[in-house]
Amino acid sequence: MPEASPAPAPRPKSAPQKAMEKLGLLRDIDLALHLPLRYEDETRLTPIAEARDGDTVQCEGEVVDNRIELRGRRQLLVKLRDERGAQLLLRFLHFYPAQQKAMAIGLRLRVRGEIRAGFFGREMVHPSFRKVDEDTPLAAALTPVYPASAQLPQAYLRKAIASALKRAPLDEVLPPALMQLPITRGLPPLRQALEFLHHPPPDARLQTLEDHSHPAWQRLKFEELLAQQLSQQRAQRERALLKAPALRAAPGGLHERLLAALPFRLTDAQQRVAEEIAQDLARPQPMHRLLQGDVGSGKTVVAALAAAVAIDAGWQCALMAPTEILAEQHFRKLIGWLEPLAVKVAWITGSVKGKARQKMLDAAASGEAMLIVGTHAVIEDKVQFKRLGLAVIDEQHRFGVAQRLALRKKLQSQVAHLDMAPGAPATAQRPAAPAASQAPAQEPHMLMMSATPIPRTLAMTYFADLAVSTIDELPPGRSPIVTRVFADSRRDEIIEKIAAAVRDGRQVYWVCPLIEESEALDLKNATETHQELSAALPQQMVGLLHGRMPPSEKAAVMSLFSGGQMSVLVATTVIEVGVDVPNASLMVIEHAERFGLSQLHQLRGRVGRGSVASVCVLLYTGPLSDTGKSRLRAMAETTDGFEIARRDLDIRGPGEFMGARQSGAQLLRFADLQEDAPLLGAARRLAPQLLDQHPAAAAAQVDRWLGGKAEYLKA
Ligand code: ADP
Ligand code: MG
Repeated sequence: MPEASPAPAPRPKSAPQKAMEKLGLLRDIDLALHLPLRYEDETRLTPIAEARDGDTVQCEGEVVDNRIELRGRRQLLVKLRDERGAQLLLRFLHFYPAQQKAMAIGLRLRVRGEIRAGFFGREMVHPSFRKVDEDTPLAAALTPVYPASAQLPQAYLRKAIASALKRAPLDEVLPPALMQLPITRGLPPLRQALEFLHHPPPDARLQTLEDHSHPAWQRLKFEELLAQQLSQQRAQRERALLKAPALRAAPGGLHERLLAALPFRLTDAQQRVAEEIAQDLARPQPMHRLLQGDVGSGKTVVAALAAAVAIDAGWQCALMAPTEILAEQHFRKLIGWLEPLAVKVAWITGSVKGKARQKMLDAAASGEAMLIVGTHAVIEDKVQFKRLGLAVIDEQHRFGVAQRLALRKKLQSQVAHLDMAPGAPATAQRPAAPAASQAPAQEPHMLMMSATPIPRTLAMTYFADLAVSTIDELPPGRSPIVTRVFADSRRDEIIEKIAAAVRDGRQVYWVCPLIEESEALDLKNATETHQELSAALPQQMVGLLHGRMPPSEKAAVMSLFSGGQMSVLVATTVIEVGVDVPNASLMVIEHAERFGLSQLHQLRGRVGRGSVASVCVLLYTGPLSDTGKSRLRAMAETTDGFEIARRDLDIRGPGEFMGARQSGAQLLRFADLQEDAPLLGAARRLAPQLLDQHPAAAAAQVDRWLGGKAEYLKA
């Protein structure tokens, strides 16, 4: 037998291949669904004499002149003459010697570009061109122009897509009977729709392709919406089958005592949402609820009350926040409320190390700590709970998608092996846990909190699986925040205002600009501003807070500021979420134009928490982009978080909402929730039928459209 030759080493990927992967174009189906942005009509030739100023056309002719001239600047001028003797000047301001050669006199060229009526007759600037023979055929279909990138030439992508389209598994999966709704009846099958959209015939009405009203587009959008509805409704059904411990407050227990001990009365809205949550907790299915309420509306205490219900019922509660600072604040606030009531609270973050960490881990594992507060460190493998009944995730949208998935996994692993005896306190001696196989699949309840409200349309479609509670009023006695927008040139004036505010005993935040590309620059800027303000306010303590400080230092600075000794806090966006210092009543945000709208709103929410009138100053450096302008205007015009969210959606579109961008999993690629509401309605109605009667088709549909992303949508 001949000796087996060693397997060939995998070929290194070419730059365009890598660029395709970066765009998420991995499978044939991904390529098939990568649709053109627009089309170029290369199916016909326009005689030069008939081309009108401003038209983008394709012409053909013989090169009769080719020279480099200095007309103000060096340029390549190529003259083309067609059969009828009309001339066209091709003008290149940037060119390579090879390009000059490729347009040598005597060659026949096919060129495409926009016609301009120039001083020297008809001309095209930087047309695309290629050498042809007299019998080179014209394109049979419109030429697609795809979203591409610098490393990925159109020609390469066109070829890859055309061949992927042939291979892609595009057979009809939807039962024809289901496609008989009035709105879906006339739509072409998916394969036909895609072939049409990639290579429309010359007589296709470009308008309907561009505004996506063409039946081929409608089919595509319907498919997408259907997949998304299927995945949502399936997740909902799966969740309904899960078990969870039914948690109820004990009469005279922690819940009652906490309510009685609070230093304030709950607002009506807080009472209402707390009741909604309590009802969910009392059910033997896991709660999956979002608590939304504007910044400062008092979500933390609602979470504490939910925790108290769980603890009353003998179960632990974990509360997670996206940053150490925020987690620490929660920790302090919760200790303040709960430790006097004899609840042990554990504290787990990345910065708690060594013995202290072990102690916390032990307390969580033994059930001695009934409330566990921390960052996402709480969901690390090493952390074990005795009986986790409720997980609360604060500022949920700030957690990355990967972290949200990890959290779900952790939760799923938590209670599955625990016995379900209700009500017994966790600290009591319990028999060894039964084997996992004997226990019903169950999960802890989950409460997510966010100050960024989900617009109704999104809630209905993406989060059909999510119950929503809304706190729609602020605690009494808050004075509204006045927001002013200033050019950075008036910085000195602002610093004087700060000096005056500080003399009146008020406290000030100064938020430094966000420099996404460079943490180092971010820091430099914050340090410089810190020096500038320290020099301008020699009598005052001016602190600095940034993400790179060790947590103990951060904590020290925060405690000086919340204790009132420090009057000005210069900070990077680490203070963005949740920080609560009621006496701080002036906030300056530098380079406000660099922040997103919801981020600005979050930042501004750090002031206006006490009864003093608060001011937020947005400093900007021009020139402002249109979206920059609309963001700042929105901030100046309203402090209502729901209105801000609505405008944010207008400015950015739903795809970028909810941090979808960072996950790479765009929410909807083709359909638009508002515009395609009728298709969405049809998809919502069909999804249950499909799940009930054609489960295999439903699964194929979800897999085709969402692939691995279905998991993300659930997280
Ligand atoms: P957020 O919803 O932004 O997380 P917090 O829970 O941090 O808001 O609450 C903001 C501030 O309002 C805290 O100082 C909190 O103690 C206080 N607070 C919450 N509820 C009430 C209430 N009903 N009456 C008065 N103050 C309240
Ligand atoms: Mg909060």
